[in-house]
Amino acid sequence: MRIVILGGGFGGLNTALRLGEKMRESNHEVVLIADKSNFIFRPSLLWVPFGQRKIEDISFLLAPTLDKAGVKFIQKQVSKIMPRENRIVFHDQSALDYDYAVIATGAFPDYAKIEGLRGNTSSIYFAEDALKTKLEIESLDSQKPIIIGVAQGNPSSWMSYEFLFELDAYLKQKRRNPSITYFTYEKDLLNHGGKNVTEILKTHMQEKGIAYHCDVNLQKVDEENLFFSNGVAIPYGFSLILPPYKGAEFIFSSKELNHQNGLITVNTFLQSVQWENIYVVGDANLLPNQQVIKTGRAAELQGHIAAENILLRLKGKSQTKEYEDSLLGLMELGTNGGMFVFRYPNSKSSSSIMEWAMDGTVPHLMKIAFEKYYLWKLR
Ligand SMILES: Cc1cc2nc3c(=O)[nH]c(=O)nc-3n(C[C@H](O)[C@H](O)[C@H](O)COP(=O)(O)OP(=O)(O)OC[C@H]3O[C@@H](n4cnc5c(N)ncnc54)[C@H](O)[C@@H]3O)c2cc1C
Repeated sequence: MRIVILGGGFGGLNTALRLGEKMRESNHEVVLIADKSNFIFRPSLLWVPFGQRKIEDISFLLAPTLDKAGVKFIQKQVSKIMPRENRIVFHDQSALDYDYAVIATGAFPDYAKIEGLRGNTSSIYFAEDALKTKLEIESLDSQKPIIIGVAQGNPSSWMSYEFLFELDAYLKQKRRNPSITYFTYEKDLLNHGGKNVTEILKTHMQEKGIAYHCDVNLQKVDEENLFFSNGVAIPYGFSLILPPYKGAEFIFSSKELNHQNGLITVNTFLQSVQWENIYVVGDANLLPNQQVIKTGRAAELQGHIAAENILLRLKGKSQTKEYEDSLLGLMELGTNGGMFVFRYPNSKSSSSIMEWAMDGTVPHLMKIAFEKYYLWKLR
């Protein structure tokens, strides 16, 4: 049997390593396909614009890591998937057949959803964006207002808060003091992280003098203003906005694959609800009835679950591993260290949630330690 994993990010790499490790002595073949040669620890892209990390500090080549686990690596761009034929087609027109496929190709900014978003606002989504933003920040005109925010349709608001606080700290350190405003479509500041998280964020906004607007949708951007659904227009000199999400381009070209704006619906086994031998993990999937926050940690957990379910099925057993949404994260808070957030469904009661959040220097140190550990472990 051949198991093909598409994507070399948190989801794809962890799926491949788990399968490779458990199938070393078998006749099955595990192949990972990615269009880029390296893995990037994307949470640390946050620090690139402030000169605290270089891309080479936070990335490594996929091939040697996969080779150690007995996984074959192919660097190619997927142009479509044909589930009826169990076939993946590449941009160079070559093809590869699979018995099981795991789609882990992440999500992409859907700039077209908001007029003027592309070109007028900055990003730290990919390495090249973070490097461009670094240049923009270095030449920032601190007389002009700054707006940071997250647009409706983006399930990763987390990183917009981190960028906000890191930018504020960077500018204060340089003794520049422009007005900074934050906005989010969320009902309250990161309200899906729980009440404590919202309260901690409010305190930090107040202490740092950052104005914020919640429950607003961004409608349009032009060269000078952001226009919101409540009729308010805010002028800006620099802005960084997390755009709405969509799936990878090849999903739109895969006529036999149902999707919602390029994202594929899965069940709790992380199996496509349409094709039983396709699993989808990480930012690329849609999990109905779960309040999913898209993170690298979720992608990793989901990769392990998909791998375990495939292993069970290869042994002729029923799949048993299910994904349940939870949140465990470390958020940077600029001058005041970081915040640790824990939010898990309470297994003793179906209606309640266990949650905890704390801020201070310790979570900041934990975040740095985690980055170093993760890169060391996988490199
Ligand atoms: C600035 C920033 C800060 C973040 N902070 C955190 C954090 O603190 N904690 C946290 O848990 N998460 C954080 N995240 C989110 C996290 O990085 C993502 O949720 C995670 O990367 C999703 O993993 P994934 O494997 O689903 O997709 P991705 O990491 O996007 O990987 C997708 C892979 O698919 C490949 N690919 C795409 N299209 C094709 C194609 N057509 N053919 C072949 N290959 C293809 C790509 O090259 C890549 O290898 C942050 C993200 C950013 C950008």
